[in-house]
Amino acid sequence: MLMFQHAQPSIQKKNKKSYKKNTMLASTIPTDEHVHSTFASRYTRSPVPRFQMPERSMPKDAAYQVIHDELMLDGNPRLNLASFVTTWMEPECDKLMMAAINKNYVDMDEYPVTTELQNRCVNMIANLFHAPVGNEETAVGVGTVGSSEAIMLAGLAFKRRWQHRMRTEGKSTEKPNIVTGANVQVCWEKFARYFEVELKEVKLKEGYYILDPVQAVELVDENTICVAAILGSTLTGEFEDVKTLNDLLLKKNEETGWNTPIHVDAASGGFIAPFLYPDLEWDFRLPLVKSINVSGHKYGLVYAGVGWVVWRNKEDLPDDLVFHINYLGSDQPTFTLNFSKGSSQIIAQYYQFLRLGFEGYKNIIENCMENMKVLKQGIENTGRFNIVSKDIGVPLVAFSLKEGSKHTVFEIAENLRRFGWILPAYTMPADAQHIAVLRAVIREDFSYGLAKRLVEHIELVLKEMDALPGRAIKKTERETQEEIFRYWKRLVDRKRSGVC
Ligand SMILES: *Cc1c(COP(=O)(O)O)cnc(C)c1O
Repeated sequence: MLMFQHAQPSIQKKNKKSYKKNTMLASTIPTDEHVHSTFASRYTRSPVPRFQMPERSMPKDAAYQVIHDELMLDGNPRLNLASFVTTWMEPECDKLMMAAINKNYVDMDEYPVTTELQNRCVNMIANLFHAPVGNEETAVGVGTVGSSEAIMLAGLAFKRRWQHRMRTEGKSTEKPNIVTGANVQVCWEKFARYFEVELKEVKLKEGYYILDPVQAVELVDENTICVAAILGSTLTGEFEDVKTLNDLLLKKNEETGWNTPIHVDAASGGFIAPFLYPDLEWDFRLPLVKSINVSGHKYGLVYAGVGWVVWRNKEDLPDDLVFHINYLGSDQPTFTLNFSKGSSQIIAQYYQFLRLGFEGYKNIIENCMENMKVLKQGIENTGRFNIVSKDIGVPLVAFSLKEGSKHTVFEIAENLRRFGWILPAYTMPADAQHIAVLRAVIREDFSYGLAKRLVEHIELVLKEMDALPGRAIKKTERETQEEIFRYWKRLVDRKRSGVC
């Protein structure tokens, strides 16, 4: 006993000593923080700064990891069928874009080649849209951040031209307006509000979701700066009838002596119609079309951040809006809303034109149309939906549930999310508001296999939803599991906060 009692502290002492020795070793030769694996560092167990800039710096690999990992929770852009905007480009183009990431587009004197590439793109687009320019003549247009900026610029040009005309006639310039369909993209509402132009919208009717040219021309008055038609309506992908609009408006202009022009918002359709429907007259072949915008980052096949606006002639862009920059001794006119921006998207656009050519664009868009038909057929075959989109237009499938469905398109969208699909549900604009549609946009990188898989998943979701009696939702096993989890979590949380 005595022996034991004696032995005990000595063992403890020995242990203590060796423990001390170890800590000494650790503290005398501290491991530099930068040697730690990021997940062994304090950065992965501290809150991420959200309101104040952190006091201290952090290692670059930790910063990378923290941001990279949080971003994993974003949806997968390739499965995002909500958007027209490009989500895939060739690695060669990615390389060109990365190489230009430090070039400010606005420094035209320093980066004359980039400026030249922009000008080439403008020329090619103007020619594609049949602008009346000679073979070696430069066209009037500009690269923008997207169609929204392009539309602001086009709108400003119309407003200024209209002001000039009204002033020379001694008339008021107080109340400019613009005539569009109620289906216009939100950027037109932005233009109207920011630049104080009244938006006169032609209402939609059930079963007819685009601008009615007859009603549009009826709305035109002396203060109308332009009528905007859409080539590729955002919701249904349909092309508005620009030809009829042009003809009716020509007649009205003749009768009234006004000179109301047309703008075509070809954000999505501008890189579709020339390849698929070369005989469709929607562009500068029609005399009243004075400007056209197109999104380079939609079917122009470039990542987000590029759009274009081209004018028919120099006279259609009032000179008092244009700034002139001396560029390599020659005049480079500029007309943009912002100053600095990246160059990569312009370079990428030129890459696509050069790489694909007319042939390449045509093949890609034709593939999109084929895959659109596969998806559309699959959706039709379920027997549960009405197809709202048309076969001619932008490759997308817009579909609404047939009458008498127990569930809504919003529930379908939500259920498809668990497979990774992002397929938005929308309500139609005014006067057709009770119609809710799902819309799947077909992009270059959405191939046959994915179309088939999407159809399978839609069928599965319908079947699951059918098993639920109306809105009194019967739980799936997964939902039961989730409920048990929630119950336990609540219990544990309450214990922690002392409620339990
Ligand atoms: C996408 C779209 C716009 C806006 O274009 P951004 O390039 O995204 O700025 C405008 N009008 C229509 C018809 C569109 O589809």
